[in-house]
Amino acid sequence: MSEAGIREQLCRFGRSLFDRGLTAGSSGNISARLEDGWLLTPTNSSLGALDPARLSKLAWDGRLLSGDAPSKEAFLHRGMYLERSGAGAIVHLHSTHSAAVSCMSDLDPADCIPPLTPYYVMKIGRLPLVPYHRPGDPRLGDVIRGLAGRHSAVLLANHGPVVSGASLEAAVYAVEELEETAKLFLLLRGHAVRVLTREQIEELKTAFKLDL
Ligand SMILES: [Zn+2]
Repeated sequence: MSEAGIREQLCRFGRSLFDRGLTAGSSGNISARLEDGWLLTPTNSSLGALDPARLSKLAWDGRLLSGDAPSKEAFLHRGMYLERSGAGAIVHLHSTHSAAVSCMSDLDPADCIPPLTPYYVMKIGRLPLVPYHRPGDPRLGDVIRGLAGRHSAVLLANHGPVVSGASLEAAVYAVEELEETAKLFLLLRGHAVRVLTREQIEELKTAFKLDL
């Protein structure tokens, strides 16, 4: 897809996520890989009102090539791209249910949400928890780099998810699957739950060639 097409698509997905309440105010950011750098939503921008011409275009060394100043969370995205050569896009949201799960004190830090549905396993797999860091702490980028080789998605403690995909569409669909599964997880609290078995997960990995 051309850069112009990716810019349009990024703004269209931003509006869709915002309009459905998946991230509020100026929270959340979306990025996409280009042949000569990457695009990121600007600082203090609402995902509901993005301008394709004003998206921040960045070089891999962090330089701003064109557009408005980038989101202060740029390093979350950069850390993931550097470890995942197949990642074409990344979405970070403060979506309510995923953020709620990120605040729970009894999570398994290696795998925050159990394998409740096959779609969650296929789109997210295992979701590690990134320990709390203050907003803008550059050490967060290093922690994400340490996990991103093995995980396409991570959950930032007391904050929200960072999810990558081969394309913008794939990253958006994956973060939506995560949000819906976080909602299920919270609805099921206190109930006896049947999660997918190891054999059922292995079957999915084989049938859909998953790299989990
Ligand atoms: Zn954030």
